[in-house]
Amino acid sequence: MKKMEAKRRIVLVPVPLQGHITPMMQLGKALYLKGLSITVVEGQFNRVSSPSQHFPGFQFVTIPESLPESELERLGAFHFVLKINKTSEASFKDCIRQLLRQQGNDIACIIYDEFMYFCGAAATELKLPNVILCTQSATNHVSRCVYSKLNAEKFLVDMEDPELRDKVVDNLHPLRYKDLLPSDFGPLEPVLEFRREVVNKRTASALILNTTRCLESLSLSWLQQELGIRVYSLGPLHITASAPGSSLVEEDMSCIEWLNNQKPRSVIYVSVGTIHLMEAKEVLEMAWGLCNSNQPFLWVIRSGSIHGFNGIESLPEEVGKMALERGYIVKQAPQIEVLGHPAVGGFWSHCGWNSTLESIVEGVPMICRPFDGEQKLNAKFIETVWSVGILLEGEVERGEVERAVKRLIVDDEGAGMRERALVLKEKLKASVRSGGSSYNALDELVKQLKIE
Ligand code: UDP
Repeated sequence: MKKMEAKRRIVLVPVPLQGHITPMMQLGKALYLKGLSITVVEGQFNRVSSPSQHFPGFQFVTIPESLPESELERLGAFHFVLKINKTSEASFKDCIRQLLRQQGNDIACIIYDEFMYFCGAAATELKLPNVILCTQSATNHVSRCVYSKLNAEKFLVDMEDPELRDKVVDNLHPLRYKDLLPSDFGPLEPVLEFRREVVNKRTASALILNTTRCLESLSLSWLQQELGIRVYSLGPLHITASAPGSSLVEEDMSCIEWLNNQKPRSVIYVSVGTIHLMEAKEVLEMAWGLCNSNQPFLWVIRSGSIHGFNGIESLPEEVGKMALERGYIVKQAPQIEVLGHPAVGGFWSHCGWNSTLESIVEGVPMICRPFDGEQKLNAKFIETVWSVGILLEGEVERGEVERAVKRLIVDDEGAGMRERALVLKEKLKASVRSGGSSYNALDELVKQLKIE
């Protein structure tokens, strides 16, 4: 009997954080649909739910010595990722050697999340082709590359000068020098180390980004020129290949029924992503502002996501009552479905890159309330480049929240943003359709992976 020719296997290594797992699984699905075989390397926790149900045909392997979940809570996401990189290389190499034995050496490529840079070192040592997936915006990657070439100490001193802070980086409008500043994760050295490692391409032959030309053409061209390796923009990956079931937390579908009973474009959907913690004071001001706006709201409050606050139960009685009358609160929402619901008129977002893409793809304008540098950059683009959102800066106060909600949902200003978001939505959808830039880039990537 003729032996079936083995498919070419791609090994995917996501970082165990929701906002990174989701696009990696979407990429895996897109490659699988193009005829490649997929193996996903996971840690012992943070596994995608029911993999065999949602990803039939994928192989899942586990690195035994990965960090326990409690470390994520104890260290915070940034230091957790640093520690994974310091502790996982040996077990990852064992895992890949075993896979090579099992698969008769058929590994075409390792695609690793840019935050899992230890895989780059391992792939280089094992002489395996490798490609980096960047799950954040192209402009954010550009800002890290520019920053890595500066003298960090001198730069910090320079940034005390307001004129230099606001200066636009050459040929990269609207990126300003102050946008390059790292977020405050504590001492500077670990942040510098992390940034150096993330922009170090080692032996990678390509960089994949979850973005598209019509959103970030300047940054993509800059990266293509600067990095000297192929840059593939395949996004938005959730419409290139949707991959349900990669959520780490169960989604509360009851909110869809609640949305079904609301007027078209009346609801403000509130979610600050899967990582960030909020201060109780800000949550209270938001609650008052949302209630006072008289617009219905759907609010995601994750367990333990507010310092010193246990969720709706500890809001002052009056606000809690109003919140339950005007709003609906869940611990996790099916976000893409929510944003696509006709009742949703706006998104209060922390401007994580996935949330940003998901909102634009549904034509939903945003109230931007970013926490860290990457999100601030996204918020700047949302407000000033694509003009589909309102940025809230400084301390949040209830009157300001109320005004922002009204501007977005009720006023003509919001209607204009919605129109622009709808135009962008069509462009994004066209980019993943046959002949579109992301569609073509995926075809080119698959060719490269099959040849390597
Ligand atoms: N998400 C979701 N339901 C929620 C909250 C978040 O499905 O209630 C998803 C959201 O759709 C997005 C991801 O979690 O795909 C969050 O990623 P993002 O990059 O926006 O932010 P991060 O959590 O990484 O800060």
